Parts: sequence; structure tokens; C-alpha cells
Amino acid sequence: MSGFTRARAGVPSPFHLRLMMVEANGHVEREGKNGASYQGWISTRNSLATERKDLHHGTKANVSRAAAPHVRAWVRLVPARGATWRRAGLASGDDVGRVQDIVRHPSALSKFEQIVAASKGKKIVMFLDYDGTLSPIVDDPDSAFMSDTMRRAVRSAAKHFPTAIVSGRCRDKVFEFVKLAELYYAGSHGMDIKGPAKASSRHAKAKGVLFQPASEFLPMIEEVHERLEEEMKSIPGAKVENNKFCVSVHFRCVDEKSWGAVAETVRRVVREFPRLRLSQGRMVFEVRPTIKWDKGKALEFLLDSLGFADCSDVLPVYIGDDRTDEDAFKVLRRRGQGVGILVSKHPKETSASFSLQEPAEVMEFLLRLVEWKRLSRARLRL
Ligand SMILES: [Mg+2]
Repeated sequence: MSGFTRARAGVPSPFHLRLMMVEANGHVEREGKNGASYQGWISTRNSLATERKDLHHGTKANVSRAAAPHVRAWVRLVPARGATWRRAGLASGDDVGRVQDIVRHPSALSKFEQIVAASKGKKIVMFLDYDGTLSPIVDDPDSAFMSDTMRRAVRSAAKHFPTAIVSGRCRDKVFEFVKLAELYYAGSHGMDIKGPAKASSRHAKAKGVLFQPASEFLPMIEEVHERLEEEMKSIPGAKVENNKFCVSVHFRCVDEKSWGAVAETVRRVVREFPRLRLSQGRMVFEVRPTIKWDKGKALEFLLDSLGFADCSDVLPVYIGDDRTDEDAFKVLRRRGQGVGILVSKHPKETSASFSLQEPAEVMEFLLRLVEWKRLSRARLRL
């Protein structure tokens, strides 16, 4: 299959990006040349496709397609500089001219005063994703360590606010990284929830919380993990991770030429397990139970466990960087309560209200929140 997309207009120095189509209904997110990046998803009716595309960006799109009649796609281009970015749409069988500007969400640091003002008379509860939020994204998922300074910031936050780590990782593994016994941990995308191992009088309400809504899937997850490990041996760089209630297949270190093979293999294996479903995160395929449980449900469960069910005097603050965190951002929007903060260097479509660029800014935000809380307590004592 071959073809190209071209979206062009009056912006000088058009740049070229190489876009590899990963899989049917696949999500793509990569750094491009000249500091630009692109994101998107591609679907094909012909199973897998790997295709080279040259993309130009501009104020108006004129998207045309020379071939690939069964391709549907949208691709978002993020220029290296400038406040706007573009989306070029491409629909099956048609030429499409469609461009949409997406404005970056305001920084949670620059809007800090607004955020703390919203917490007046309310109890802040912190929810933190791990990878890409507290730790940098690295090639080897086993080496995604958080810094000691970040650990100190999270520990300080937990002294003032009930704090939970909500991760796609296995709960034990994320605990090994974070090493803070005073936190709540929701592993496997919220399917494995445990309260603080170290009792805290301030957060005593949820002591002993333990919830595993997908326990019956454990043998099936074991089986799919073994099958995927066996299958991925032939693809250099692919890494299969057993996250207890879900399995991750990382392809960050796989040669681009083999991304299609990774996707095809994972899809073929998952088809044998109709009670499991496949989703995709940042350079990772995730296999998990079909039950309706996600990070958003975990957030609600923890709020209920903390005694904040149907309460108006709580302000949940959720910080995360991945598509799986969107479920939590949506819950906050639906409740009309709380602050969703997306961690991303680039603007993205998101249900979060604010953004932070990277883990270093997450740490700065946590420390400012702690300092604000400390000062407001001191003022109360005067
Ligand atoms: Mg993450």
C-alpha cells in the first residue's frame, strides 16, 4: 500500500515528517524532525499497513490521497514553535480539506492561584499517574525511576492531602518505584487498589482499602502474558510486561519497520481471548479485561472510600499524561468537581482543564501546593 498526504498553506519552511502507520485503529505519537511532532490514528480495512507520508503544515489544509483506498486517518501536526497546531483529516475515498486549531490548555503553574481559590473550604485529594508524570518516559520500562527530589515532593504532598498513585503498572511494581507507604496505590489501570500500608491518622477513613474487580481474569491474563512473551521473542526490542490484571507490550525500542509485526501479533493473540480487549498508550499496546473499569472508576472508588461520596467539599486533583488518564479527567468533568491536569509538552485533545509540560513542572506544582497549604495553616493559627 502506498500513498501520501499533503496539507499545505502559507507557513514558510514546510517540514517533512515520516509517518509509520502502525495498525488498524492504531494510535501514533512520535517526535518528528525540526522539533515538531505528530499524533494521530490510522485505520485500514486491509489489516495492517506501513506507509510513508510526507506532510506539510499550514493555515489551510488541502489533503489529497493518491492511493490507499481503504485508509482512514487523522494526523495532528505540532510545529516546533508557535501556539497553534493543525489537524489534517483524511477520509476513505475522498479528498478532504479540514484544519482545526487546538489551543494549549493553560498551565497549572500560571493558574495556580485560580486552582487554590477553587479549593477554598474543600479537602484536596491528589491523584497522580506514575510514568511520564512522576518519572520521565524511558526506553526500558524497568528503568523508569523517579528522582529522590520528586519522592520528597510526593511525600510532602501526602502529609497534607490524601494522595493516590494511579498507574497502568502492576501495583507491586509501581510501589517499588515510589517506595512511599503512606500513599494509596491503584495499579493495573485501577483494577488493583490498596490503601496506605503505613497508617496515617489524618487519612484513617480508608485504611485497609483493597479492591480487585477483575480477580477472575487472573488466570487468563497469565495465559495471554505467556503467549505474548513467546510470540515477541522473534521481534527485537519488544518487551512484554505482566501488570497482573493487564499485559503491556512495549514497542518503543522496536525498529519502526517491525511496528506492524508487533501490532499484528498482539491483535492475533488477543483475538483468541474474547474477554480481553486491546488498547494503545504511548508506544505500548495494552491487553486488559473487558470489564468496565478504568482510572476514572478507580478515582471514584477512592473518593468514596475516603468518605467523599456525593460530597461537595472535596477537590480531587488528577495529574496524568496518557490517554488512559482521560477516563479520570472525564469523571471530573462529569462531576463538575476537581482539577484535571494533563502532562504534555504539546497541546493535545483532552478533557483536562490545565496542563504541565513535564515531570519537573509536576514537582514544582506539588511543592507550591504544599507551601500554600503550610502557609494557610500557619495563617489560621495566628
Ligand atoms: Mg503515564
